Amino acid sequence: MPEVIIVGAGVMGASTAFHLAERGARSVTVVDARRAGEGMSSRSSALVRMHYTFEPEVRLAVDSLAYFRDWPERVGRPPVFRACEFVRIVSPGEADLLRKNVEMQRACGAEAEVITADDLRELEPGWHAGDVVAAAYEPRAGYGDGAVVAGDFLSRARELGVAYRPNTPVRGLLHDGGRVRGVLTDEGELTADLVILATGVWTRPLVAALGVDLPIEAEYHEVVVMRDGPDGPLARTACIDSVTGTYFRPEGGGLLLGEFVGPRDGIDPDDFPQNPGEPSVMAMVERAAHRVPALAEAGIARGVTGIYDMSPDARPLLGPVAGIDGLIVAAGFSGMGFKICPAVGRALAEMALGEPQTVDVSAFTPNRFAEGRLITPPYGYTDD
Ligand SMILES: Cc1cc2nc3c(=O)[nH]c(=O)nc-3n(C[C@H](O)[C@H](O)[C@H](O)COP(=O)(O)OP(=O)(O)OC[C@H]3O[C@@H](n4cnc5c(N)ncnc54)[C@H](O)[C@@H]3O)c2cc1C
Repeated sequence: MPEVIIVGAGVMGASTAFHLAERGARSVTVVDARRAGEGMSSRSSALVRMHYTFEPEVRLAVDSLAYFRDWPERVGRPPVFRACEFVRIVSPGEADLLRKNVEMQRACGAEAEVITADDLRELEPGWHAGDVVAAAYEPRAGYGDGAVVAGDFLSRARELGVAYRPNTPVRGLLHDGGRVRGVLTDEGELTADLVILATGVWTRPLVAALGVDLPIEAEYHEVVVMRDGPDGPLARTACIDSVTGTYFRPEGGGLLLGEFVGPRDGIDPDDFPQNPGEPSVMAMVERAAHRVPALAEAGIARGVTGIYDMSPDARPLLGPVAGIDGLIVAAGFSGMGFKICPAVGRALAEMALGEPQTVDVSAFTPNRFAEGRLITPPYGYTDD
């Protein structure tokens, strides 16, 4: 069994530690500059759904759902998953693509079907469905909590023997030529056979010192929780809506609302606004009110801000980097990492131990950008 250092105790690093420990790896140390889950995982909207356009993403999401649903049996901690239904509304011209994607998702084991505007009206009578040609429906979606998931994975891993060093920033990677042999911290050097970087939006500068540029950009996002009014819940169903460019899901006594894209210029993951700005929130609520008209009158309960680690094709970088031994990268999750973290952690553990992959994640190689082979799904949406 190799000695492994995992840098980062967000949902990805913690899940990887859990899966390594479950496979009997004992020389595993998780190092984090903060404490478990205190990076972007704790800011996640944590929506879990299967609707993706690229098959390996769907497979990762389907396998991960089984972990979320059976959390107590699999991770030994109290339930973390709140079930709800989900609909994906695409731009009117993309209904045929949606049908193809639902077909692919079903072949991957997802419970999904195509519904009409009338079906949507039945599901959510308060929503506007007039512009919906077809939507994808999942009866078994839901949401969780990033901080809890990271904490649960890590605490179970520690029970199984994994070491944890919180409040320990990694200042650099130790390397001899093309081989990484550990990390440098303020308390000294930690050496290992393998370093796994699960450092999210902080990854690019760490690998730059090896002469490798991983094109991960920081993108700022704002999320608000709107309060239900006297007429009942704003949403029982979670939704991703290309027409309004927003997503939302139920959240105890209200609706959690976020949007597809955010600004990238000058965004610093260590120094960004901690509260959403009023003009941008008002604009987002106004757009979402096209779908959920009651939002126009709803009050705001609270806001969350966070940073996505965006890659050029909005998909993660998973695996070794060409020309560098002893290093695996797991970053660039581009706003999708929560729902796939159980299966990604398993894939990374399998990779680290040289085991066959339960879900083949080779398409996510970090080298695809340097090689000009970005992921382009066969039936991708314009805002995928
Ligand atoms: C606002 C928002 C909403 C989102 N909504 C969803 C959603 O609905 N569904 C979904 O699936 N995904 C969602 N995501 C994405 C998802 O939350 C992330 O992809 C996921 O949490 C990333 O986990 P991670 O472990 O890669 O990164 P992080 O949680 O950021 O963890 C990285 C860790 O690395 C540590 N670290 C970094 N550099 C160093 C260093 N030099 N030394 C030591 N430690 C270091 C950090 O302290 C941190 O703890 C959302 C993200 C945001 C920001």
